[in-house]
Amino acid sequence: MSSRVLLRGGVVLSMDPDIGDFDTGDVLVEDGQIVQLGRDLGTDAEVRDCTGKIVLPGFVNSHHHMFQTALRGYWSDALAVDYFQQSRFGPNALFHQYTPEDVYWGQFGGALENLAAGTTTVVDTSQCSYTPEHTDAALEAIRRSGLRCVFSFSPAFGDHVPPPSYAHPHDIHRLVDLPDAVGGGLVRLALGYHVDEELFRLARDLGLPVFAHVNDMNFGRALETLDEQGLLGPWATYIHCLGLEESTWKAIKRTGGKVSISGVAEQSLGMGRPTLQAALDHQIPVSLGTDAVSIAAPDFFSQMRAIYLLQRGGLPHAATAGAGEPVPPLLTRDILEMATIGGAQAAHVDHLVGSLTPGKRADIIVLNTRALNAGPVNHAPGAVVTMMDTGNVEAVMVDGRLVKDNGRLLGVDVDEVLDRLAGSAADLAARAGVSDILLTSCRER
Ligand SMILES: [Zn+2]
Repeated sequence: MSSRVLLRGGVVLSMDPDIGDFDTGDVLVEDGQIVQLGRDLGTDAEVRDCTGKIVLPGFVNSHHHMFQTALRGYWSDALAVDYFQQSRFGPNALFHQYTPEDVYWGQFGGALENLAAGTTTVVDTSQCSYTPEHTDAALEAIRRSGLRCVFSFSPAFGDHVPPPSYAHPHDIHRLVDLPDAVGGGLVRLALGYHVDEELFRLARDLGLPVFAHVNDMNFGRALETLDEQGLLGPWATYIHCLGLEESTWKAIKRTGGKVSISGVAEQSLGMGRPTLQAALDHQIPVSLGTDAVSIAAPDFFSQMRAIYLLQRGGLPHAATAGAGEPVPPLLTRDILEMATIGGAQAAHVDHLVGSLTPGKRADIIVLNTRALNAGPVNHAPGAVVTMMDTGNVEAVMVDGRLVKDNGRLLGVDVDEVLDRLAGSAADLAARAGVSDILLTSCRER
């Protein structure tokens, strides 16, 4: 029996330029697929009243490391050197303490957190695949959560015995052959994490997307070397893209590459000013990522606001205007595009999600405006980007299935998840032999 649901009477931001937006519109979903948008769609479907609410595609997070959820905020004070040193080098490195069970609860809690905040797709850079069991635990947790996920299978790093990289990248051959590697079509595989010839060659040969950290100019130069070998293409997404030279930007543009910017984490770690404007200037599709929850909150309201202010904060001041070409200010709608269809392009799932386009899968969020931080809504994109927070996320649908309704996740014991994460955090610290930093700072560790 088919299921038909009509989201009726909302302010609909389709994020599809051919369809446009509706001040009052309906979205019809059948068997997990968006089938029609319009006004006053008469139907025999189950009706959900969305009067006065904002209906839009779920957000797409193009860069995240969900396994780190138990380490939430641990590196709030960190600069990049602290983060890398304490996470993966030496006997006290926190990542090296992860068991498959720690990975499971980190991934599960992270997936739920994203769903609850209106993010329906996450590109998850595993980075904790010490053994195939770690990888399997990550995939199992993602499948259970109901999140749409591009699992970017990546190596672990640093001083570790046995070497942490033995399962990567060749274990990808096992993963692509697993009959249940994809859960209900929601989990897709990709490769990560470096600008690395073997990795890019493997991705190309297997027909998988590749997500590469490009943290500075040297990685950018390495990227250009891969370009000379014909290894770059539209299947690649470049993360951070800090300090790149003009020739690297041109290589990314020419080969159809996508860019993921983690506007909060990059600045928090002191990695440099995010290169949003350079990507815009080269007309390269931009998407937003949140990177690690150990550094910054993964909710997209924080991220959208940060990136919006970042671009506007970089506009020429009136006193210096005229010194160069005028830079057009981004509008809140531009930011919403990055958070939805831009993210879907960077995640290589824009044929499935990212806009409310008939034929795409029904990944939809409903935002409550009957709240003191949202009403009255005079400008819908502005309300989402500059006013709202995760508390406005009333309902979340992934692949046509409701995972959050009336502001609550469905079918999940959130208290149990929080307890498991707290236990994991304590275990990780104990195994690493580090004392807690509750009232101090990771910089004083
Ligand atoms: Zn990262």
